[in-house]
Amino acid sequence: MSNIEQTLSIIKPDAVERNLAEKIKEKILENKLIIKNQKKIQITREEAAEFYKVHQTKPFYDKLCNYLSSGPIVVMILEGENAIAVNRKIMGATDPEQADDGTIRKEFGISIDKNSVHGSDSGDNAKKEIQFFFN
Ligand code: ATP
Ligand code: MG
Repeated sequence: MSNIEQTLSIIKPDAVERNLAEKIKEKILENKLIIKNQKKIQITREEAAEFYKVHQTKPFYDKLCNYLSSGPIVVMILEGENAIAVNRKIMGATDPEQADDGTIRKEFGISIDKNSVHGSDSGDNAKKEIQFFFN
């Protein structure tokens, strides 16, 4: 049975700054996801805090919000069969050092903070995150 989903992907400041957006999009497209909508934006510290509020009790929350608002990002709606899981798989583990070969974070990530991409982790979060950036 087919399970076409949408998920939110963000190319984070470290990757945009190093001109990796096109290479990252190629990896996404190679994996049979399509980019339904995209925009390059810079968000405020307040918007980043709202976006990442699920992490507000974590020790790295402040740093995370400062980082996501530190420079331009590319936000994209990806669509395809099992898009949420497929995107998480091609991203690789949160820490680039732990990520599998061939994943975006393994290839391009610098550190657990500067890990180049974000991807929604569930259907509920995908809907919320898409709404957050594309309403
Ligand atoms: P993302 O939500 O960005 O797709 P993720 O789902 O793999 O990443 P989360 O646990 O949701 O990981 O953490 C969100 C972000 O917070 C991570 O992408 C990473 O940049 C940062 N982060 C997570 N754990 C740590 C940590 N232990 N130290 C520093 N930063 C962290
Ligand atoms: Mg996450």
